[in-house]
Amino acid sequence: MAKWKVFVTRIIPEAGLRLVLENCDAEVWQEETPPPREILIEKIRDCEGVLTLLSDRIDGEVMDSAPKLRVISNYAVGYDNIDVAEATKRGIMVTNTPGVLTETTADLAFALILATARRIVEADKYTRKGLWKTWGPMLFLGRDVHGATLGIIGLGRIGQAVARRAKGFNMRILYYGLRRNEEAERELGAEFRNLHSLLREADIVTIHTPLTEETYHMIGEKELSLMKPTAILVNTARGAVVDQKALYKALKEKRIFGAGLDVYEKEPIDKDDPLIELDNVVLLPHIGSASVETRTRMAIMAAENLIAGLRGEIPQNLVNPEVLER
Ligand code: NAP
Repeated sequence: MAKWKVFVTRIIPEAGLRLVLENCDAEVWQEETPPPREILIEKIRDCEGVLTLLSDRIDGEVMDSAPKLRVISNYAVGYDNIDVAEATKRGIMVTNTPGVLTETTADLAFALILATARRIVEADKYTRKGLWKTWGPMLFLGRDVHGATLGIIGLGRIGQAVARRAKGFNMRILYYGLRRNEEAERELGAEFRNLHSLLREADIVTIHTPLTEETYHMIGEKELSLMKPTAILVNTARGAVVDQKALYKALKEKRIFGAGLDVYEKEPIDKDDPLIELDNVVLLPHIGSASVETRTRMAIMAAENLIAGLRGEIPQNLVNPEVLER
């Protein structure tokens, strides 16, 4: 039987790639950076499946260039890079990789909380530069994480995993979401707040919503102005949930204590982005799920989703089940 023609937009861990190569007639993009749009369009012209990364923008125009396309398997839990409504209209299944990256991403969010609160990166640079003269009573004073009030925006899989870590630090946990989650309230001792109350009360605010029309710039100038001058903002969700210009101003004017970012409105962040000049922000290159074990699990899951969809089965992680009703 002829194998399904697919395009894989980057080299993913071997275990997943092998599955794709065994089951499909696959071309794998070999470069370190994503295929430029025109090349992506060219590459998927005859494809039935495509395995994408969050750096590949898959909109209606791209889909129109691939009339045989049946499955878009995204190697990420977030799928804001894909126009799902347009895919559904065309009968294309969209899949993602939920769950397998939850704990790893929560680890990174907690690492950012600690690094920002205790000024780890700043202190590391200072030590390496040979600037350390003596033990100092006022040297690199940060903020306590243990016992602090944590405000979680989006108490989903990753938000709850962060809350479980916070319990070990004896933190008080507040959360904001579209609806109350009474089970999580019982299990985690989390208290529901509206967004503004959460921002006013929390010492550390951590964002775990998807990027949608509703969450775009959910944290802007007004919201930042509600935060305590001693507070910390951590974003490991998607950059555009925060108005980055407003955040820069708040950090520059020291209206909040600091921020820890894994994600940005534009990725990669520009070399001359003003955030880079600030000491009170920790900047990571979108590595939330980046552990060997988790990236391997994501690769296998993305491959299995792709193959299931191509076989005419319902993929385990189908984002648009309404496509089946067509
Ligand atoms: P999830 O389980 O779906 O959790 C998302 C949470 O956000 C849910 O509780 C959801 O509430 C809530 N939410 C949705 N829209 C909201 C709104 N308008 N206002 C307030 N809350 C809202 O997803 P997850 O697996 O935890 O992942 C969350 C996000 O993290 C992903 O979408 C992805 O963008 C990001 N992520 C980043 C990295 C990284 O490398 N930095 C890694 C993994 C994930 P309902 O359940 O009520 O809808």
